[in-house]
Amino acid sequence: MIHPSAMRCVFLVLCTVVASCSTVSGSGRTQVNFYSAADDARIGQQAWTEVLSDPLVLKQGPKVERVQRIGNRIVAAARRLHPEIAENFQWEFAVLDDPDQINAFALPGGKFAVYTGMLNFTEGDDDMLAAVLGHEAAHVTSRHGTERLTQVTITRVGLDATNVFVLGDLDPGDRELVLQAIGAGTNVGVLLPFSRSHECEADVLGLMIAADAGYRPQAALRLWERMGARGSVGAPEFISTHPSYQTRIQLLDDAMAPAQRLYDSREALGDLPSRMGG
Ligand SMILES: [Zn+2]
Repeated sequence: MIHPSAMRCVFLVLCTVVASCSTVSGSGRTQVNFYSAADDARIGQQAWTEVLSDPLVLKQGPKVERVQRIGNRIVAAARRLHPEIAENFQWEFAVLDDPDQINAFALPGGKFAVYTGMLNFTEGDDDMLAAVLGHEAAHVTSRHGTERLTQVTITRVGLDATNVFVLGDLDPGDRELVLQAIGAGTNVGVLLPFSRSHECEADVLGLMIAADAGYRPQAALRLWERMGARGSVGAPEFISTHPSYQTRIQLLDDAMAPAQRLYDSREALGDLPSRMGG
């Protein structure tokens, strides 16, 4: 029999989940997020302060200028395509000097960091770097960071409730084993595919952002082809949690026509970036 307190707990969680549903800008997907856009900005700012204290942060020079130049156009496009969310954030960039890291990341609230490894990897091809930054901007406008925190919270509450109410009669050793089994299942079954769905969403929405910023959308295909050719070496975020290479190319192919239309409309306005190289 289920304990009445457990029922109450589950009911409260369900109410909170229903009250926390929102829609992801651009994809229309329903998202459960316990946090507000203002929370995204606050949480991101705290983490950003830590990022900026890293001695690897480059303060100036051509690499920083390149990221600023492309990043500013990406942010302008994110604001055009997702105004209701992007306007809540103060967007900022950093370059971290680590040539071995072919990687970039975004924090909630509009903060980006790009490693010099990624800048070298996309050297001479601004369209390709724009594909990376567009992908990161899409994580921000889709509020994936706080959605993920919400997911972890729900999972944890579920585990705690199971621990207290359902497993209460087991001896501590058995209980630990059961919890570990549930934890492993939750991790692989819920959290990991969830993360991959975020990556797919960021790929498609990021393609649109980069195109609307005036960068050629085909560069995204080039980026993932080149990444795929490297395997998992040196690209932890960009490969390990990401969908399979074939899934990714298929998704991008499907989204290429609308992305090209966004690019063409920028071109018609005469609003294309000046490109260094490529
Ligand atoms: Zn990503």
